[in-house]
Amino acid sequence: MLRQTVRQLVREVVEPQAMEHDQSGTLNRALLKRCGDLGLLGLTVPEEDGGAGMDAVASCIVHEELSTSDPGFALAYLAHSLLFVNNFYWAATPEQRKRYLPKVLTGEHVGAMGMTEPSVGTDVLGMGTTARKQGDHYVLDGRKTFITNGPEADVLCVYAKLDGRITTFVVERGFPGFSTSDKIPKMGMRASTMCELIFDGCRVPAENLLGREGGGITNMMRNLEIERLGLAAMSLGMAQRCLDDMVKYAQERHSFGKPLHEHGQIQRYIGESYAKVEAVRALTYGVAATVSATQRNRLGTDAAKLFASTAAKEVADAAVQVLGGYGYCTEYRVEQFLRDAKLIEIGGGTLEAHQKNITRDLVRG
Ligand SMILES: Cc1cc2nc3c(=O)[nH]c(=O)nc-3n(C[C@H](O)[C@H](O)[C@H](O)COP(=O)(O)OP(=O)(O)OC[C@H]3O[C@@H](n4cnc5c(N)ncnc54)[C@H](O)[C@@H]3O)c2cc1C
Repeated sequence: MLRQTVRQLVREVVEPQAMEHDQSGTLNRALLKRCGDLGLLGLTVPEEDGGAGMDAVASCIVHEELSTSDPGFALAYLAHSLLFVNNFYWAATPEQRKRYLPKVLTGEHVGAMGMTEPSVGTDVLGMGTTARKQGDHYVLDGRKTFITNGPEADVLCVYAKLDGRITTFVVERGFPGFSTSDKIPKMGMRASTMCELIFDGCRVPAENLLGREGGGITNMMRNLEIERLGLAAMSLGMAQRCLDDMVKYAQERHSFGKPLHEHGQIQRYIGESYAKVEAVRALTYGVAATVSATQRNRLGTDAAKLFASTAAKEVADAAVQVLGGYGYCTEYRVEQFLRDAKLIEIGGGTLEAHQKNITRDLVRG
């Protein structure tokens, strides 16, 4: 039912606006609110707290379906529903949930998460943003970068070092000492926006500590796995769309007196792409079934995102090739999927980070 609901939304609402937002580089806030109306923004939040009470598999379904049409919007959805909502929910007190959930679950408020810094990405433990306690406040100083939804965000989960220990804070846009940079232009995923977050003596009330002092790594690691699954599912959606488009085009377009799909080299693109899509699907949903707020699968989620991201990029590239000149032009949108797919090899952990993590875990046994 969830898949049918999102598929209908994609067909009727998402697809007609997707190209426009890729070209204008803007987030469709009304669409995020529409997702809120459908209960999609708190998918992994229990029902008693206003969510849908669903699991990582459900989260993958939504990310996959949205990404068959608008991966950039799906990234904004991920930053909102996983990087903020899911991250926040599992670390928050009942009072914090009462204060922040209602508006992010409806989409009235946009959420984001700030971890990466201008000089620190993969080496996250080396972050330089600091927090110090001052009476009934914490004072944050530093800078975050590449923050999806940063330009629109009303509330953010932010990581900073308190006495050298990574700690999470909930920051509201209006807090004194907080500001954002101009939007950062990017290659793909343009239907979501990103910018820097600037903390210049930013005063955060003590009650906005999320979890315990020094508990930031726990929050970060718990959330990273469902985030990686969301990104793997996005890769799946993009790859599926590109496969569908190349199969259709290969039937319509003729060369040398026959449809493209009768040429052996085109069959190789299609056949290999189909195999990749099915392999990504099996791995992603297989791993998703093993992950929950209380159940971890670091090895599986690293493997799913590592494999899915490159597979999707390769399938998108194959689609551009099969469509030839039309593939390179914007009309058929496969060039957009190639630009969008590349992000998954970088965001939420680079390919190299996944390779390192997997090797470390296997060597440790
Ligand atoms: C579109 C987009 C959206 C994003 N959204 C967010 C967001 O919402 N919130 C957020 O906090 N961050 C976000 N990010 C940041 C993203 O998570 C980082 O870009 C990513 O973690 C990589 O960090 P980096 O860019 O600093 O690269 P670096 O860590 O500097 O890495 C550069 C290169 O060196 C390699 N490398 C680094 N260390 C090693 C090593 N030890 N061994 C081998 N190779 C290594 C990397 O794999 C990479 O190839 C976003 C990024 C993009 C592009």
